[in-house]
Amino acid sequence: MDVTDKIYINGAWVPSAGTGTLQVFDATSEAVLATIPDGVSEDVDAAVAAAKAAFPSWAALSPEQRCELLVKVGEGLAARSDEIAELIAHQVGTPLKIAQRIQSGLGLGVFAGLPKALAGIQWEEEIGNSLIVREPVGVVGAITPWNYPFFQAALKVVHALAAGCTVVLKPSEVAPLDAFVMAEVFDEVGLPAGVFNLVMGTGPVVGEAIAAHPDVDAVTFTGSTRAGTRVMQVGAATIKHVSLELGGKSANVILEDADFAKAVPAGVYSAFFNGGQTCTAPTRMVVPRSKLAEVEELAVQAASSYSVGDPFDDATKLGPMASGAQRDRVRGYITTGIEEGATLLTGGPDAPEGLDKGFFIQPTVFSNVDPKSTIAQEEIFGPVLSIIAVDSEEEALEVANDSIYGLAGSVWAADEDHALSFARRMRTGQVDVNGGAFNPEAPFGGYKRSGIGKERGRYGIEEFLSIKSLQR
Ligand code: NAD
Repeated sequence: MDVTDKIYINGAWVPSAGTGTLQVFDATSEAVLATIPDGVSEDVDAAVAAAKAAFPSWAALSPEQRCELLVKVGEGLAARSDEIAELIAHQVGTPLKIAQRIQSGLGLGVFAGLPKALAGIQWEEEIGNSLIVREPVGVVGAITPWNYPFFQAALKVVHALAAGCTVVLKPSEVAPLDAFVMAEVFDEVGLPAGVFNLVMGTGPVVGEAIAAHPDVDAVTFTGSTRAGTRVMQVGAATIKHVSLELGGKSANVILEDADFAKAVPAGVYSAFFNGGQTCTAPTRMVVPRSKLAEVEELAVQAASSYSVGDPFDDATKLGPMASGAQRDRVRGYITTGIEEGATLLTGGPDAPEGLDKGFFIQPTVFSNVDPKSTIAQEEIFGPVLSIIAVDSEEEALEVANDSIYGLAGSVWAADEDHALSFARRMRTGQVDVNGGAFNPEAPFGGYKRSGIGKERGRYGIEEFLSIKSLQR
């Protein structure tokens, strides 16, 4: 990575119009990794002007021409995949091996999967005397979070550009460094100036400037429900097309006849994946009361195998949280769980032994969690699992659906049809049935306050298309 003190606008690295800077920290050593511009609204004005000017000719290219260029960008990034994974391991705390597979790997998969996703788009159709055409929505503002920074940015940037839109990307100020690599590769491949622009800065300043900008046609946001609400409010003044991928509090329902020896460790694994800093993390494990003792034992056993430490150490399964603020937030929730009367089975609010430096949290499991309590209702975004006991399948469904969120979920049962019929009744955007594998091509997006719109694959591209009817 050559540049971190500039932003990328209209095909060139330029200084921010502001003079402030922001520090990016190493989650393990707490050392400053880099200093980036603390951008201002004038940066957004310049980036949006460039994107607006570039839009007509980029939109006029064929989808195949755009795809060819984007696949080249993907190849350029693939050549730097280790660097991307390392940057994310430093910033987010993801263990390096997982960062290679999931952080850089999934992001690169978005580029590589583009030809297939584009092939699924029906650009035109006829309905009676009407010709229906799909057109790019225009200038897209993309605002992304820190937990899967490269993957989230790739989903937005690749699919918006493939649709024929031009883009202004603002990554999270907590983990912005891989976005510089992305911009460097866009620059090397030589996309027309203004097609891809990168700004830096905080949400309330640069993020809101994007959401408010009259020449931004659509905002695609991934982050907290709090900030997403603000993006929608700010965007409302110009009737912005807004897509939101927000928080979650997903339930993992294990039904009476399920294979508990398989389901419980798998549930712990998913809840603690990437340090629990995953929007889809199934942090509420809903189980029959008759099985509670067995579940507790299995969960503690699984949690104890989570060696906490340096993400660059091969033995580490749980790295630090991405920031000191996030660590403190998670600790606060663990304390609240204890205060509200849940049973702490393992873990706790103190730093893991020998890890006073770095943003570390102990893998923590609570049982006898009241489904109405804070730790069962609020997104914690750390390695904290809540086990909730229920007395019937109906109650399991009620508890699973008793959330302001509806991002993801899981269900386990002996019989797949049984699990599927339960999954259909869950008010959530995705459900994994009996450990069904992650599918990056499947549409992803939340119900309720987990968001609006879909990402990934064909559906992800359609999010950036407007529909026009031509009557003949
Ligand atoms: P965050 O909301 O603090 O920040 C996300 C992005 O929004 C950052 O770029 C930030 O600078 C920007 N932002 C903050 N305030 C803003 C404002 N007022 N206006 C415009 N932009 C603003 O979230 P985070 O802490 O980076 O990420 C964690 C959250 O993201 C969790 O709630 C998690 O569930 C959610 N998330 C959701 C998905 C999903 O696909 N649904 C994926 C990953 C993360």
